[in-house]
Amino acid sequence: MWRLARNIIPTRCNLRRRGVVLDTVCPLCFDADESSNHLFMACPMTLQVWFASPLGFQPPPQTDLNAWLQSWLSAKEPLAVQLFCVCLWKIWFFRNQAIFNQVVFEPRMVAASAHDFVSEFNLANPTRSVDRLQIPAQVWIAPPTDFLKANIDAGRDKHGKVTWGLVIRNHESEVLFAATQSPDIMADPLLVETLGLRWGIQTVLELQLSNVMFELDASVVVKCFNGLSTIASISPFISDCHDLFGSLVGSSVSFVNRSCNVAAHELAQVAKSIGSRTWVGNAPLKVWSLFSLDLFL
Ligand SMILES: [Zn+2]
Repeated sequence: MWRLARNIIPTRCNLRRRGVVLDTVCPLCFDADESSNHLFMACPMTLQVWFASPLGFQPPPQTDLNAWLQSWLSAKEPLAVQLFCVCLWKIWFFRNQAIFNQVVFEPRMVAASAHDFVSEFNLANPTRSVDRLQIPAQVWIAPPTDFLKANIDAGRDKHGKVTWGLVIRNHESEVLFAATQSPDIMADPLLVETLGLRWGIQTVLELQLSNVMFELDASVVVKCFNGLSTIASISPFISDCHDLFGSLVGSSVSFVNRSCNVAAHELAQVAKSIGSRTWVGNAPLKVWSLFSLDLFL
């Protein structure tokens, strides 16, 4: 990390700068010079690693690597930071494997390797932090084969106006559908999350999907939906959710930690500036970058 932050990691551009005569083309995509910025933030192969990782995001384009590292190291949950750092390290490791050992750089494998490393490390070092013990519950993991996961999150802008984000991914972590919604209503946080669930279920129904595992980071809403709690103010909307949910085959609604809901959270934040949008497949990079820019303000 330190070498990366100082930009002295021996990428091809850095080697050239130090007087080594070599071709500076990126060994992964062969489509650009291999600067640190390109290798870790812009290379199409690396972008796939980031999205396939449990973090499930895209790096902000046209952002300085150093600023990006700073924003990560200062503002995120410990487990997410740990994953982030291990992903960086694995990208570098497998980049070297590609160059020196002719091992094909396979983004999904790189992401899986980072995930496995963090899981094993934390299992072997349980005293480091209680929070880090339960990896599977702390990072987004892909659903089983034949299932989809729909992550939903809600946000409110500074005037209290509601926004939502939805990401639907398959067992290979591929994004099948992404949406932002800005319904032009005001509501309290609990209601916002409940209406977000209703919107998510509606959207999934419209897409005619089944076997969908819905995930929210609003534990109270999930408890109410699953009949473990009752709160009068949201009861009518929980009923709406149940009515809609009745038409969905093989589906469930579960609570996840915020660290598992990063992609939906980011879309809900972006919805504040772009309003309601839908994408079949992943949201374009410039949408993800809007969120990341927010981090620097
Ligand atoms: Zn590249």
